[in-house]
Amino acid sequence: MAQVKDPICGMTVDSERTAFKGSYDGQMVYFCSASCQKRYAATHKSA
Ligand SMILES: [Zn+2]
Repeated sequence: MAQVKDPICGMTVDSERTAFKGSYDGQMVYFCSASCQKRYAATHKSA
């Protein structure tokens, strides 16, 4: 179990359980919800 921080809302997310994650600028980023991921993706390049 790994706790990481959602960069959009600051909420703590379990990186192994969340369905909302993606690689941006070569780094894996985790989110609490699809809307947070969408907001992040709007300003960061998916890679
Ligand atoms: Zn969030």
